[in-house]
Parts: sequence; C-alpha cells; structure tokens
Amino acid sequence: MTQITPQPGIMDIALYQAGKSHVAGQARVLKLSANENPFGPSPKAIAAAQAAAPDLHRYPSTDHASLRAAIAEVHGLDPDRLICGVGSDEVLQFLTQSYTGPGDEVIYTEHGFSMYPILARQAGATPVCVPETERQVDVDQILNGVTDRTRLVFLTNPGNPTSTLLPESEVARLAESLPKHILLVIDGAYAEFVRPEVSFDGGVALVNKHPNVVMTRTFSKAYGLGGLRVGWGYAARDIIDVLNRVRQPFNLSNLSLATAEAAMRDREYLTFCVAENAKWRDWLVTELAAVGVPCDQSQTNFILARFADQDEAEACDALLQSRGIIVRKVAGYGIPEALRITVGDEEGSRAVAAGIKDFKEGARA
Ligand SMILES: *Cc1c(COP(=O)(O)O)cnc(C)c1O
Repeated sequence: MTQITPQPGIMDIALYQAGKSHVAGQARVLKLSANENPFGPSPKAIAAAQAAAPDLHRYPSTDHASLRAAIAEVHGLDPDRLICGVGSDEVLQFLTQSYTGPGDEVIYTEHGFSMYPILARQAGATPVCVPETERQVDVDQILNGVTDRTRLVFLTNPGNPTSTLLPESEVARLAESLPKHILLVIDGAYAEFVRPEVSFDGGVALVNKHPNVVMTRTFSKAYGLGGLRVGWGYAARDIIDVLNRVRQPFNLSNLSLATAEAAMRDREYLTFCVAENAKWRDWLVTELAAVGVPCDQSQTNFILARFADQDEAEACDALLQSRGIIVRKVAGYGIPEALRITVGDEEGSRAVAAGIKDFKEGARA
C-alpha cells in the first residue's frame, strides 16, 4: 500500500463530465451538447491567433494589460479591477482557493454548474446545495442555507442548464441580504444572450456597490472560443489583488491573449452571433411546443426541453443520437426528464427540431 495520500476531500471530487462529442458509428455529428457557438470564432480572432503564432517562443505578458484594456473599453469598466484566467473556471478556482478552506461552506443551487462543488472540494471546503423553485434560483432558499461557516455563494445568471434568469431586483436583494464577509460570485457565462428588453448588466452595478460581490464572464460561449480557454472576472481592487497572488504569472499564452482581445473588439461579429441565436432559439422553442415539448423562456444559447419523464427524455435522446445529433442529458443536474439542447445555426436547429418531432409523432403512432 502506498503511503502517499492526497489532501482530505480530494478523493470526494467527482470527475467533471464534459458534453459528449462522438456517437459510435457516426462519422459526422451535430454537436449541440456543450453550448458552443455554431458559427465558430470571429474571423478576426482567427487572424489574430495566426499572427501570434510566430512569437510562441516568447513568454506572454504577465499582467494581461492589453486584453484587460479591451474588456474595460467594451464594458465600461476599470481595467485595474479585472483579472483574466484560463476560462472563467480558473477565475472561479482563484476565488475558492483564496477565500475558502477546510471547515468553510460554499453554497450553490440545485441545478447549478457542476464545477462549483468540484472547486469547493479542491479548496478543502464543503459544498452545500440549496433548492431552486421550478428551475429558477430562489433567493430565500440561498439565504436559508447560510450558516456561520458560509464563505462563498455561487450564482449562475442566467442559469445552466435551466436557461432561466434571476431578475436583477432579486440578485440585488441577495447581495444586500448576505452578510458582508460572504463572497457572492455571479457567474455570467451566458450574459451576452440575455434578451435586450430585460434590464440586465451582468452584475456590474452590484460589484460597484458591494465590496463582497464578484462577477465572471467567459470567451467560451458567445465568442466561440471554448477551445482557447479564456475568461475574466470583475471585482473590488483588493479582491483582484488577492486573486493575482494565486494566479500563475503566465497563466494565459500570448496566443490566448491576442485571440481573445481581437474577439472582444469585434463587436459586429458578436452582435451577429447573438442575433442568430435569438432567432433560432425562439423558432426552436415554438417548434417543440407544437409537438408537446415545453421549455422555459431561455435567456441563453441553449434550451431545456422537458419531456414527460426520464424514460421519454432518454428515448428521444437515443433517436437523436441515431441521427448523429448530440444533446446533453441533465439527470446529473437534477432534471432527468429534460434534455439541454444548444441552439445551433439554421441547419442544426431544423435537424434537431425534426428529430424531436419525429420522435413525438412516432411515439403517438
Ligand atoms: C460554460 C460555463 C462556464 C465557462 O467556463 P469556461 O471555463 O470559461 O470555459 C462557466 N460557468 C457556467 C455555468 C458555464 O456553463
């Protein structure tokens, strides 16, 4: 027997299950399981990646000044209050690592992102899951879950895999009600997709008002750069100063920095992707409703299609897979009767809608 043992809690970590990307026997697949941008990265981002390649022998910037300046300009933020990480996952990791440890509790919600309990356990802390109400975050349930040991609360807004949005007034109530020594982390991985008629700033005003509120964003979803691994956070300066101490000096490559900066500056491409998503998202929801598959109103780049029960959801998933269409089962997120479907381009949306329609009509026949 080996005498080498890991730190307490590490063997309790369940390995993250990524969205599937292959189906046995299918050479070409339509992958709608990981909320990727069907149009890929901005052509300007691709050009920036190519232009950065000859300098790969050079170490990158340690302070990410140029990327932070671009993010700050676009979002109207103070660049000194920004931090960039290897995906927003890394920024979330800096937060749990810096502010939680053994004996501390980290709250996340029933259908919250599966990385939250993983990150809490990595830090030696205890993840505490609180209920949602009808696939919607419930602020009172979060507040009920707070104990003397709570140090951090994770809120995904809009939610994954629920696609629902907690209204700004409720997020504000949460920020105001939480004790000031507890960090509130607002994960805005899907913030770009929130409907323009909804009042929503991703949490900027709350970060500006409350020194214990942090927001994170990513290049992985709307910007089509999931493979690049870049995300960022916005917080009070003293929090950013803490996070920079646990951040590795060269966490982002010069290729990552240049590509993400070009993507951030290409507002026209982002606007195009968000508009296409909105169009096919609404089309898809209408098509599914017509065959008896309801979805909550989505504020993201995916929909959560609800079936009668887990068996029906799995049978529909099997039919889609037989056509090479991969969607995400979400039993692991506590919604076994649903399938999470990324909104594709027109062709992808038509293919998945036709599959579900055929499944429902076949089931009825
Ligand atoms: C995709 C996603 C992220 C982003 O992860 P990256 O590390 O930035 O790729 C964060 N939170 C949620 C809820 C997500 O769905």
